[in-house]
Amino acid sequence: MTQTSEFIWHNGEMIPYQQATTHVLSHALHYGSSVFEGIRAYDTPNGPAIFRLDDHIQRLFDSAKIYRMEIPYSKEEIMDACKQAVKENGFTNAYLRPFAFLGHVGLGLNPKSHLADVTVAAMEWGAYLGDESLAQGVDVCVSSWSRLAPNTMPTAAKAGGNYLSSQLISGEAKRNGYVEGIALDVNGYLSEGAGENLFVVKKGVLYTPPTTACILPGLTRDTIIHLAKERGYEVREEPIAREALYLADEFFMVGTAAEVVPVRSVDQIQVGEGKRGPITTELQQAYFDLVKGQAADANGWLAFVNE
Ligand code: PMP
Repeated sequence: MTQTSEFIWHNGEMIPYQQATTHVLSHALHYGSSVFEGIRAYDTPNGPAIFRLDDHIQRLFDSAKIYRMEIPYSKEEIMDACKQAVKENGFTNAYLRPFAFLGHVGLGLNPKSHLADVTVAAMEWGAYLGDESLAQGVDVCVSSWSRLAPNTMPTAAKAGGNYLSSQLISGEAKRNGYVEGIALDVNGYLSEGAGENLFVVKKGVLYTPPTTACILPGLTRDTIIHLAKERGYEVREEPIAREALYLADEFFMVGTAAEVVPVRSVDQIQVGEGKRGPITTELQQAYFDLVKGQAADANGWLAFVNE
């Protein structure tokens, strides 16, 4: 995994990777004032397709709106830039990183200009939690760090600054030998992983923390809720206590980068059978069939790069 490419779209044009730089006094570098997306493109029988491109770019604009950041391009232009970034770099599978940030606008906390610089990078990025994670499951822990409280920083915005919290959560977990850390919310209920939303399966019902649990409202979470309901499963968005993880039949984490990852233990307590369970397997398969164009795309979620 190199996370490089030949070209990066930057402020309206495709430029060579090495030239996509910014000033050291960029506002975002000092204060975390950036908003971004992580999107995947998958190889399908009709060529590369970007999954839920429209929804991701809408979330980028929503994140910018919360911070009064002005993106000087239309949604359509950014979506086109995403397609170009895949196409011109010759990728079939890719991870896309569109982002908007306050650049060289001065170091005052509230600069006069809220006009963002905008970049779309594409790169190859394999299984985020490791090659074996999808089949074998992962070992995770509950973090000593809580997620942001709702009246501190808005977690519905996918903003650079929020990821200091995620770095504390995942860094602590990794130093202690776990693959990922799970955070509780300010009330002590389950929130989310450092970069993933959570699903607990008990007696055939799926439970996932509600948006009031200070989560990023993930698009993979939304896709899984959709796929589960389509298959007749009941899905409940409600507060979940920590111990529900230990007593779950199955537990899995979802995210664009992580995809659908079974969890085999939490805090060194085995979850269910300690391996990928049947409902996780079914939904994981349904997810990959959908994103790879192997199943009907009833919602028009695939944006084909070569159209
Ligand atoms: N929570 C956090 C904190 C994340 O960073 C991510 C990854 N973007 C998710 C949840 C999952 O969101 P999505 O499914 O939209 O990628």
